[in-house]
Amino acid sequence: MSGSRIYMDWNATAPLLSEAREACLFALDLVGNPSSVHGEGRALRTLIENARRDVAALCGAKAASVIFTSGATEAANLVLTPDFRMGRTPLKISRLYASAIEHPAIREGGRFAREAVCEIPVTSAGVVDLQVLRELLAAHDRELGLPMVAVMLVNNETGIIQPIAEIAEIVRAKGGILVVDAVQAAGRLPLAIEELNADFLILSSHKIGGPKGAGALVARGEVLMPAPLIRGGGQEKGHRSGTENPVAIAGFAAAARKVGEGVGQRMSAVGALRDKLEGEMLKAATDVVIHGRDISRVGNTTFFTLPGLKAETGQIAFDLEGVALSAGSACSSGKVGQSHVLTAMGYDPRQGALRISIGEGTTAADIERCAAAFAKVAARRRAPGQAA
Ligand code: PLP
Repeated sequence: MSGSRIYMDWNATAPLLSEAREACLFALDLVGNPSSVHGEGRALRTLIENARRDVAALCGAKAASVIFTSGATEAANLVLTPDFRMGRTPLKISRLYASAIEHPAIREGGRFAREAVCEIPVTSAGVVDLQVLRELLAAHDRELGLPMVAVMLVNNETGIIQPIAEIAEIVRAKGGILVVDAVQAAGRLPLAIEELNADFLILSSHKIGGPKGAGALVARGEVLMPAPLIRGGGQEKGHRSGTENPVAIAGFAAAARKVGEGVGQRMSAVGALRDKLEGEMLKAATDVVIHGRDISRVGNTTFFTLPGLKAETGQIAFDLEGVALSAGSACSSGKVGQSHVLTAMGYDPRQGALRISIGEGTTAADIERCAAAFAKVAARRRAPGQAA
C-alpha cells in the first residue's frame, strides 16, 4: 500500500504477505529444473512437494490430490470438461450446471460446448436455488453422461456463502460431480474438502496473499480425474504438463500456511471492522443498500449500492479520495460492466454497486478514512431520480 492510500480491494488481489515474498525470493535463487535428477533438480522437487503438502493442508486434502496450475482460471478450465477418467476407465460428463453468480472462469464453461452448459438460478438473497437444482438434476438424462455441478463457496462480489454441503447431497443423490470454486473462501473460512463433500476445489494464490500466477485444482481423491488441458512432458503426474513455476508455487504455499492458521479468530477481527464500516455507511447515507447484509457472508466484504451513484463514477470518486475499491464486476479492459451477480439476484444492474473488500492488514484508521470518504461521496452524489 503506497503513501496515504488505502487498499480495499482484497477480493481482486490480496496484498503479498511478507512470508510469501520471502519464499518467492528463496525459490528464485534455486538453480535447475524440478524434473532433473541431479541435486539441484531434487532440491526444487522437494520445495514443490512441500508446497503441495501445505496447499493440501489448507483444504484438508491429500498432497497427492493437488495439481498446481497458473491460477484459478486454468484450474477451472482443467476440471470443467466432459472427459474424465475413473482410474483407467473413461467417464463421460454430458452437462455442466453452473450457478448464475459464478466467476466468468466458471461461467464460460471450460471445455464444455456452450449448449451443454446450464445455469442454476439464485434466489433474491443471492443463494443457489436448491429446488431448481433438484429439478434440473431430476430432468438430467443419465444415459448421455453424468451431470457436473459447479458452485462457488463464497461469491467474490457479495461475499455470500453458498450452502455447499446441501448442494453436495443433491448432487450425490444423482451420482454427479461437484466442483467448488473456493477462491474467495480460502483463508476466510475453514476449508475441508471432505466436510464440503466436494469432488474438486479450485484455489488461487493471489487471493490469499501469495503471488499472482499460481493456483491449484484440488481433488478429493486420486481416482477421478479430468483429461489434461495442457499436454506435454507429463509434469504434475501428467495432469498438467510444463515445467512448474517454483517461485510462484513456493509463495502460494507460504501464503496457504499463513492464512490457514486461526482462520476463525482472524476473520472475526476483520468482520468487526467490516461491520463498523457498514454501521458508519448506514449513518452517512440511510438509503445505502448493502447487498446480502442479512445473509451469511464472509467478514471481509461489503457490496453496496448508493442510489443515484453510478458504479464507474463512484469508483473514480473513491479513488480520488485515496481509497482503492472496485465495482463488483470489472472487465479485463478496466471498464465497469453490469454485475451479473446483481442481475441474478433480481436487482436492476444499471444501478451499479461498489465493493469494499478488506483483510488482516486493514486497520481501524483505514476504516475511519474509508467511512469519511464514503460520507463525502454519498453527500456529493446526484439526487436519486435526477438524470445522469
Ligand atoms: N474464481 C473467483 C471466485 C474469483 O474471484 C477469481 C478471481 O477474481 C477467479 C476465480 C479467477 O482467479 P485467477 O485470477 O487465479 O485466475
